[in-house]
Amino acid sequence: MSLAADLLDLIFPPACVSCAELLETRGPYCALCALGLEPVPRPGCPLCAEPDPAGKLCRRCRLRPPPFASARAAFVHEGPLARAIHRFKYEGRSVAVQPLVLIDDVFTTGATARAASAALVEHGAGVVHVLTLARAVGWE
Ligand SMILES: [Zn+2]
Ligand SMILES: [Zn+2]
Repeated sequence: MSLAADLLDLIFPPACVSCAELLETRGPYCALCALGLEPVPRPGCPLCAEPDPAGKLCRRCRLRPPPFASARAAFVHEGPLARAIHRFKYEGRSVAVQPLVLIDDVFTTGATARAASAALVEHGAGVVHVLTLARAVGWE
């Protein structure tokens, strides 16, 4: 580690992004919060990834097909990850957005993904894929 990084750690010691517990080494989560991360169950809806044991289209996508080609999330939006996202959003940091891949923090009902995808398609995007860090499950 560089001297600058060591000095920065003295001024701003590394802390868990969820519970703010001070960490001995750099990393996003303390050991306890890291254990609370739950991957989104698979299989799921081929469009929005709502968990479904048969991997069929969910009710929402059947009734109102989304304007995006796919939406995926790594983790379920709950526990330490939900707390970290809440802290991230309300401390004024920004999220990364890129024209054909739409990146967001949470896929809840899909309303944001639908609206943003529709705007991208309206302005010339051919195919939009949505990627989120977390996904709420059981919203049907
Ligand atoms: Zn923690
Ligand atoms: Zn779906």
